[in-house]
Amino acid sequence: MGKGTQGERFSSENGISHLAMGDILRAAVRDATEAGKRARVYMDEGKLVPDDVVVSMIEDRIAEDDVAGFLLDGFPRNVVQADALDAMLARRHLMLDKIVFMDAPEKELVERLSGRLICRACGFGFHRHYSPPREAGRCDRCGGELYQREDDREEVIASRLQVYSEQTEPLLVYYKDKPGFVRIDASGKMQEVYTALKEAVKG
Ligand code: AMP
Repeated sequence: MGKGTQGERFSSENGISHLAMGDILRAAVRDATEAGKRARVYMDEGKLVPDDVVVSMIEDRIAEDDVAGFLLDGFPRNVVQADALDAMLARRHLMLDKIVFMDAPEKELVERLSGRLICRACGFGFHRHYSPPREAGRCDRCGGELYQREDDREEVIASRLQVYSEQTEPLLVYYKDKPGFVRIDASGKMQEVYTALKEAVKG
């Protein structure tokens, strides 16, 4: 199961902030801020939003949230962002406790993303096959309308996977020998992945 859901649960159980770059960007797009307007075209095509945009957005959020601790989800996504994060943390005298790499086969990622449905009203997630809503197109929790994210269409997923292998995967080399680096198998069921995550972070 995905980094977003796992990250959200882990953060709330541990009393820290879940800073998800994709969520922050989607909120900016929805609110039509200057950054959101710039980001939208890249997101719709499954490309990375320019580094200067995401780095300054995440720095603003860290400034608000660093007292309580935070989990970064989807940031950094390339080496330039990782360098910027190092500099940002050094300025605030902070260190990363853990760096979690969630590993899942590409075929499974495509299945998960292409079947994903999200409630427009409350943001709750469903899956056409793995966790379908009771009534097609309606959220079980609040009755809101379910939609597919623009970037969960199959052609955009292919572009996201390519971006991942070209730009994000090199971060494995960047982080693998750093203290706190852990790799978990994210291909199982939601609860199994969560247990693996908790174990890895504790150890
Ligand atoms: P996510 O919700 O993590 O799947 O992110 C959705 C989209 O937001 C990505 O496909 C990118 O277009 C954009 N995005 C998220 N995080 C970053 C980042 N760290 N750098 C650049 N673009 C990002």
